[in-house]
Amino acid sequence: MPGPKNPNSEDSTPESEHQELSGDRKIPAAVIKRLSLYTRALQNLERNKVEKVSSTELAKELGLNSAQVRKDLAYFGQFGVPGFGYPVGELRKKLKHILGTDRKINVALIGVGHLGKALLSYGGFNRQGFRMRWAFDIEVRDKTIGAEKVPVYNISELEQVVRRENIELVILTVPAEAAQGIADRVVGAGVSAILNFVPKRIQTPPHVKVHYVDLAIEMESLSFYLR
Ligand code: NAD
Repeated sequence: MPGPKNPNSEDSTPESEHQELSGDRKIPAAVIKRLSLYTRALQNLERNKVEKVSSTELAKELGLNSAQVRKDLAYFGQFGVPGFGYPVGELRKKLKHILGTDRKINVALIGVGHLGKALLSYGGFNRQGFRMRWAFDIEVRDKTIGAEKVPVYNISELEQVVRRENIELVILTVPAEAAQGIADRVVGAGVSAILNFVPKRIQTPPHVKVHYVDLAIEMESLSFYLR
């Protein structure tokens, strides 16, 4: 049954429209998204044994301006050292802590079709802190998917497995007509974060955060610039 309208649902609308509470401060959702970009850039720098980075260098790497970088990071405290820049390793650790990815998050995917299989076959999410080790489908055609051998469960086991394995985040790649029913079930099982690839809005209670990914919309907005 559709729940009340959820103010936590989010897609690519302007950042000013989406504010998230973090302690007693309001952080624009777009800033939270950029933290992931900073973390990735810092990871690459660390891999290349770079120990410090300036806001200008970080901005150049990500196609932003340095004032934006300093403003974003200032939301979370005083990271930079004047005349030195940001300590790469320390900043990466702090940002991962802020994002909550300094621990492993258990992720399940529901709908092991064309898109679902492609996502399950990508091994890189684990490196970013996401343990994508559970998949569900209404029809189990393959017992496991990909080199990581992610097991596929029948959807009838959903609630039981979600509770037992402490699954916190669910990716939806089911047909549109199944999306709401599955969303209701995962929320009922205690999940409060959904990444929805299905081109359909889902209704969830206010405590549940839903993010939408739609490549067609992204391509459409790019096509505007091709005119
Ligand atoms: P698909 O038909 O190949 O896969 C859907 C899978 O869901 C099938 O394996 C099916 O058995 C399973 N399924 C159906 N009902 C289910 C239920 N009640 N519980 C569990 N599993 C169920 O489809 P696809 O091409 O992989 O697309 C999947 C979804 O992703 C669609 O909604 C599609 O529109 C969407 N999609 C989104 C994007 C995007 O950019 N966001 C891109 C491609 C596809």
